[in-house]
Amino acid sequence: MANSIRAVRGTRDLLPPETETWNFVEAAVRDLFRVYNFQEIRTPVLEDLQLFQRSVGEETDIVSKEMFAWEDRARAQSEKGQWLALRPENTAGVVRAYIEHKLWERPGLQRFYYIGPQFRRERPQKGRYRQFYQIGAEVIGPSAAGSESPSVDVELLEMLASLLDRLGIQGWNLNLNSVGCANDRPIYLQALRDALKDVVHAMCVDCQRRAETNPLRVLDCKVPEDQPVIEKLPRMNDYLDASCRAHFAEVQKILSAVSVPFTLDHRLVRGLDYYTRTAFEFTHGALGSQNAILGGGRYDGLSESLGGPPAPGIGFAIGEDRLVMTLQESAGVSVRPADVYVAPLGAGMNVHAAKLARELRRQGVAVITGDETFKLKKSLETASKLGARFALILGENEANSGQFALKNLSTGEQVTVGANAIAARVKAIA
Ligand code: AMP
Repeated sequence: MANSIRAVRGTRDLLPPETETWNFVEAAVRDLFRVYNFQEIRTPVLEDLQLFQRSVGEETDIVSKEMFAWEDRARAQSEKGQWLALRPENTAGVVRAYIEHKLWERPGLQRFYYIGPQFRRERPQKGRYRQFYQIGAEVIGPSAAGSESPSVDVELLEMLASLLDRLGIQGWNLNLNSVGCANDRPIYLQALRDALKDVVHAMCVDCQRRAETNPLRVLDCKVPEDQPVIEKLPRMNDYLDASCRAHFAEVQKILSAVSVPFTLDHRLVRGLDYYTRTAFEFTHGALGSQNAILGGGRYDGLSESLGGPPAPGIGFAIGEDRLVMTLQESAGVSVRPADVYVAPLGAGMNVHAAKLARELRRQGVAVITGDETFKLKKSLETASKLGARFALILGENEANSGQFALKNLSTGEQVTVGANAIAARVKAIA
């Protein structure tokens, strides 16, 4: 198999039975989000590069280093091509759609969720891929509809806690911070820059670069030697203006009232520029160094920065790859085996097998069929290997009489049943 083509670095195939866990997660998500009145939105994977430059921010790692972006072929020689990007995240696309379709004209707050692939050219490692999947939700709307209310923040956080609980994920931590707003952030950034001036030369090269381009990200540095320096830097909490301070206090108060535990983390900043006020991450110990299962926060100015009307909002993105990994390390999801392996025996029996399989499937029975050329022994062995619970033997006699031999593959017991009784019998035995 020389020169076989492989999946692109950082991408991977999701194979059964793992996809069963993905489906389990997505079904739980759809089910739970519905009772919080969230509706699905699907935006394109391909967007105008400017969308991410203006929202996520040109100086962020995501946009400056990790985007898959290229100039699309121009239609005529005189024209320039449009710069396109594979979306690195989905909030920007949702807010673009909100603006493009004037969704603020719809009553109340818009509550959306999405499930889909995102692309970042990061260094691949366990839990970090170049094509990965996010499950996210956004609440957005005019202030008059209540979009700035701290209760919206709590509703999202409580929904997330319920989701993780429902999935049986134990031992998660919610880390919470407020990153301020357009009023207080510039004052804090100035204080941070001033403080960094004296110490940055002793920090890692990334911090030296961030101190220039995006000083908030210095707080995110994980290099052990830099930690004592970072601990002494000014803290955003001390710079929050009165309204941000009150907002954050109210978020914590309601969160405590609904019994969602959290830890305050004054260094939590997130890697995207659009965040304001509440910022959060859920982490889990089972994930190792890439321990963030999900992250999110408010983005009260995002709509305006994309040319839309004022539309405060808040959202999160769960790393579905990591969520599935956490599940696999804790409980795991059992794969439902096929109920019946239909074994046609002899020439002409495929026709009968197809008709019978169709009827059984219509009644909700999971069926695999063999082929009329298989000997009985081979059919039974195949059925066992595939994990089918029953084998149904279908030879000429059975086809003529309408009575079938149904073999329970775990007990070996065999009974004769009429076509109409097969489904009930299979369902009755778990
Ligand atoms: P972000 O969009 O950066 O806020 O990330 C939200 C969540 O997406 C993170 O907490 C991760 O769980 C997940 N995530 C981000 N980047 C990757 C990646 N390259 N591979 C897998 N999951 C990722």
